[in-house]
Amino acid sequence: MHDSSFQAGALDLGPLESVCFHGLKAGPKLIVLGAVHGNEGCGPAAINRVIADCRKGALSVLRGEVTFVPVANPKARRQNTREGDRNLNRDMRERPQPGDNEDRIGNRLCALLRRHDVLLDVHSFRGEGEPFVFFGPEDNTGELEAFRHAGAEASFAASLGTGMLIHGWLDIYVRLIAARERLGLARLAVTEGFGTTEYMRFAGGYGVTLECGQHDDPASIDVGYAAIHKALAHLGLIDAPAPARTRPKVIHMCDLVICEAEGDQIEGDWKTGDAIAAGLPIARRADGAVVLAPRDGFAIFPNKTPKPGEAIIYLGEVSPRRVEG
Ligand SMILES: [Zn+2]
Repeated sequence: MHDSSFQAGALDLGPLESVCFHGLKAGPKLIVLGAVHGNEGCGPAAINRVIADCRKGALSVLRGEVTFVPVANPKARRQNTREGDRNLNRDMRERPQPGDNEDRIGNRLCALLRRHDVLLDVHSFRGEGEPFVFFGPEDNTGELEAFRHAGAEASFAASLGTGMLIHGWLDIYVRLIAARERLGLARLAVTEGFGTTEYMRFAGGYGVTLECGQHDDPASIDVGYAAIHKALAHLGLIDAPAPARTRPKVIHMCDLVICEAEGDQIEGDWKTGDAIAAGLPIARRADGAVVLAPRDGFAIFPNKTPKPGEAIIYLGEVSPRRVEG
């Protein structure tokens, strides 16, 4: 038994595997990540299917290059848990003195991301709901997340085949921090909200998070697999017929209901993307007070087990941004 525990410890420090296909003509460099969260198996399954397609010639990367990292967080994947030591998709940056599993992986991932132009980060979620893509801010020179590839990123997001796109993550994270402060909770740094896509934008590229569906639904793998094909075609890495133009629903995350005390609960059986009419009950405080939807909009990430300081539910509105795939 001593040997196997030694093995597990050694594996926790084991390498990240990446598989790269180099086109022989010029083109953009795409990186595709799976299992940033270890219990999200659809990413590795979808990516490994695409790697197999490339190896047997069913897919031919002609231009640019694509790097696949089927399992970005091997420790969490082996445990089949969301996190190894902490959430890899938070506070992602390079650290001269890494302290935990995600610090060490983050150093390698950041170096990989810097070598690429575009990121597709493949995830899945716990509850029910339709697949969607998270994308970033409009072009801006602000302090929070300066960016200059908004058009290319939004059209990449819309090309992946989901019916719903969501943006506004870092803005809402700033609001979450402010709401926590009003409750007297420990202050979070804004950098805590930085994951793979935020790092990619910081590094000069662009990137999106694909949420394929429920963790263990085989259909999630198909969504991821199809999206990777579409990404390769959209960027011109492979030759493929132009996909039909789509006009996905675009939602701006604009509000949240924070859990103020133990016992605050969600009210209603919402799924991400569900329309909520103004005035409908969306949460119930521990003292029985009901929180009503402040405006017409959409449910995002309803949380059935919120802890004080976490969002019970995020709210979205129809985005003014026009996006076409
Ligand atoms: Zn995830």
